Amino acid sequence: MPLDQARTELSTTEEARRQIEICNACRYCEGYCSVFPAITLQRSFSDGDITQLANLCHNCRGCYYACQYTDPHEFQINLPKALAEARTESWERFSWPGVFSGLFQKSGVALAAALIVGFAALFWAGQALRPESGEGFYAFLSHSVMIGIFTPAFLLPLLAIALGLRAYWREVGGAPVRLAYLVRAFREAARLKDLSGGVAGGCNFEKEDRYTNVRRWHHQAVMYGFLLCFASTGSATILHYVFDMPAPYGLFSLPKLLGIPGGVLLTLGGLGMAVLKTRGEKNLGASALWGGEMAFVLLLSFTGASGLALYAATGTALVGWVLPVHLGAVLAFFLTAPYTKMVHGFFRLAALVRNAQQT
Ligand code: SF4
Ligand code: SF4
Repeated sequence: MPLDQARTELSTTEEARRQIEICNACRYCEGYCSVFPAITLQRSFSDGDITQLANLCHNCRGCYYACQYTDPHEFQINLPKALAEARTESWERFSWPGVFSGLFQKSGVALAAALIVGFAALFWAGQALRPESGEGFYAFLSHSVMIGIFTPAFLLPLLAIALGLRAYWREVGGAPVRLAYLVRAFREAARLKDLSGGVAGGCNFEKEDRYTNVRRWHHQAVMYGFLLCFASTGSATILHYVFDMPAPYGLFSLPKLLGIPGGVLLTLGGLGMAVLKTRGEKNLGASALWGGEMAFVLLLSFTGASGLALYAATGTALVGWVLPVHLGAVLAFFLTAPYTKMVHGFFRLAALVRNAQQT
């Protein structure tokens, strides 16, 4: 059978395995990222090994532009794409409940827009139930309505992601987790070490042979922006329930000191990632999922921007319009999180912990 025909009959996992075995013989890209040292640990690769390697990859694309076996060579190596497809297939396999898997990835932009508009309309209508005595944001939407909606909307997606991580850990043959593995994994995730492309100048995501750290910086802005926003919400919850200090909070309060820089980083980082996605070559990623990934970064950016707009509108009648939009965006983000690119953060961290156990 001709090589081309044989290749088109391979499953996503088999195609990734074929390319990884060639890379294991070649080893030219050994210093690029965590994937290649992990490949060299073994001679044969189970399905679980492929899942682990796929989730270690950052899709920086450095190995593709360095490779002498890309198309038109008969090996047809395109490791960033093969690993991206194996990775997204693993997320769909681990997603719970499975009926939602792939939904956002395939119709992301339309779904995100519909959810934001739908939820915003519900929150806007919910203002009719506001209590007479409410203050600040609670003059527009009662505290109990917000808690009643957001508590399950936060906990259920977390449960879905936890079940997915358990399935991942079983498939990759993970051992009991020691503190040292966690520390190493968190340290590498915090630095986004592998987005450096293994060289000081960064990776090739944006413009082929041009090495750049731009993607790493934007990714860090999104990650730290999200964490700051999360910490802001957490601090506001503590102030409300422990110190009986309900919102809104002043400029020099902890929720604002964390939330404003977080919102700025999330908004700008998300926009930057969106621009980079338009510049990167689609065929070096899971091209069928490009729209879903774009919808995810835009949803993140919009959530940050609507949070900043809400802060700017505080004290004015505009809050009645901006608050439902922001809450609609946050709710859309939470509820879709187990089925969007958001899960890559969790699986990537799990892959780094597993890699720490192995190397
Ligand atoms: S991507 Fe190409 S150059 Fe790099 S290790 Fe694999 S086969 Fe070798
Ligand atoms: S795309 Fe980047 S992160 Fe992925 S295997 Fe290649 S060099 Fe490593």
